[in-house]
Amino acid sequence: MTSLTGLAVHSGLFIGRAKLIQSPSAQIPSRRISTTEVNTEIAALQESLNFLEKEFNHYLDNSALSETEKDILQTHLMILRDPEIEKELLYTIESMHFTAAAAVSSVYSKICQQFKEMDNDFFASRVGDYRDVSQRIVGRLLNISTTVEYKWDSDQIAILDEISPSQVSTMARCGLKAYCSVSGSLNSHASILSRALGLVSIVSLPKLLDIVQDDDILIVDAHRGTLIHKPDPAQLSHYAALLAAEQKKQAWLEEQTGLETVTADGRRIELYVNIELPEELDRVLKLESDGIGLFRTEFLYLDRNSLPQEEEQFDVYSKMVSALAPKPVTIRTFDLGGDKLSHLIPTKEELNPYLGSRGIRFSLSQPELFKTQLRAILRASVFGRIRIMFPMIIDAEDFKQARDLVKQIMQDLDNEGIAYDPCIELGSMIEIPSAALTADQLAQTCDFLSIGTNDLVQYTLATDRNNDAVSAYYIQHHPAIMMLIKRCIDACNTYGKALSICGEMASIPRFIPFLLGLGIRALSVNPHSYIDSKLIIRRCDQELFDSFESFDPTLSQANNEAMLKSLARYYERS
Ligand code: PEP
Ligand code: MG
Repeated sequence: MTSLTGLAVHSGLFIGRAKLIQSPSAQIPSRRISTTEVNTEIAALQESLNFLEKEFNHYLDNSALSETEKDILQTHLMILRDPEIEKELLYTIESMHFTAAAAVSSVYSKICQQFKEMDNDFFASRVGDYRDVSQRIVGRLLNISTTVEYKWDSDQIAILDEISPSQVSTMARCGLKAYCSVSGSLNSHASILSRALGLVSIVSLPKLLDIVQDDDILIVDAHRGTLIHKPDPAQLSHYAALLAAEQKKQAWLEEQTGLETVTADGRRIELYVNIELPEELDRVLKLESDGIGLFRTEFLYLDRNSLPQEEEQFDVYSKMVSALAPKPVTIRTFDLGGDKLSHLIPTKEELNPYLGSRGIRFSLSQPELFKTQLRAILRASVFGRIRIMFPMIIDAEDFKQARDLVKQIMQDLDNEGIAYDPCIELGSMIEIPSAALTADQLAQTCDFLSIGTNDLVQYTLATDRNNDAVSAYYIQHHPAIMMLIKRCIDACNTYGKALSICGEMASIPRFIPFLLGLGIRALSVNPHSYIDSKLIIRRCDQELFDSFESFDPTLSQANNEAMLKSLARYYERS
């Protein structure tokens, strides 16, 4: 038995057998070709490129593919037929006398290396796309099956060096439920897709291929990010029991779907879902939630080869809002900028991107891009109930600028005779201390507010939310955070405006009773936590609310910790 620890991309447990997905690069001939072989190798290269182009186009015609999958295929098609790359390939075969396969491997490796050296998360995540295309060409040239279009047995776990976005979607379509890879990062395109498609997965396991062989028994514990290789009988039965309990709990949780979200003493709490990809819609519908409390639309932008235009966005928003009607869909306008940048939008590099042109600032600085999104949202608003929410708002003046732009688009649509919901609600995220401190003015100006604790904690405590080294300072129940949350609650109560929390804090069991005790009445949680959150809410009772009557959450951290502990009976049983 050996265990390896990596990064859990999507949590869950899986017990099964390993199936290694070979990388064709190991089989590339290293010999140089003679002059007489040059034409044959060029012809083989052309045949492979033409074949794959047809194959990509054939997949693209498949209407069952999601927009995200189609977009990835289009990106790959563009890489495959990139004239600069083709020129370089021909040169490498003709002048350096490489075989076609070796030329592909060499040229693409150089491109990947250049991307990696850019020290930019976006370009680093594109490496997977280039490697994917390169492997497909080499696979075709050497007649090795690298595609993973293979009927996966229900107990098989894919083991790879690195997983590409196309491998994720192809394998999931062919029945794969879990995978582990040597490299990978949590924010890559492949990881985003894995989460959306529900694959139990761990990446960044450097020793993976040294120890795992075909058909070895594995336990993928993606709750802890641990892979157990050849577990002993005791571990196997321990995990089999855990898995059975998890499946039983899942089945039981699904049965609870229809329960009302109401506390034991009869207070109705609104419970919404956060969503990143349109592909999550079916799963979200099954939860019978109160609606979507946060749609992070910037995911429509990331890792694309073309900007999502008005029609495409309209299509996504209108499908979503029609499917959920009459429940609300809260569309957060692009929170681009900072670390979430598209290579398609030329921008200046910033020394401190989290304090730079991000969220609403970025959108206001790119009016054409912003207007396109607002037009698409407004047009979709006739199909149900849309609420527009702006990210990274600092105060009411900032909000008004965004609101003015919405009004301008409404005017344009009026002139064109295009329908929209004239009463569409406009709200602001509270994720910057200045917004919370001026919540009074914001509550008077906006139709609703939603607290983004992920950033609010980061900015209030000056603690990078992604930096493990300072995670001890990332204290969500810090008295300063409580002061800001209370300020928002008071402001919204005074002006009769809706308030929710959509940051991760709302999805963490131990904070749920605490937030309700503070006076929060609407939460937006990630889909995995939805039913658990509902059950916690249903356990909250009069005694809990009474205990908050004399409790001051702004006093001290220790005080809040003691309170959280004393509320364990509400969240620990879930
Ligand atoms: C937040 O900051 O809490 C939030 C919900 O926004 P994001 O996590 O997308 O920054
Ligand atoms: Mg945020």
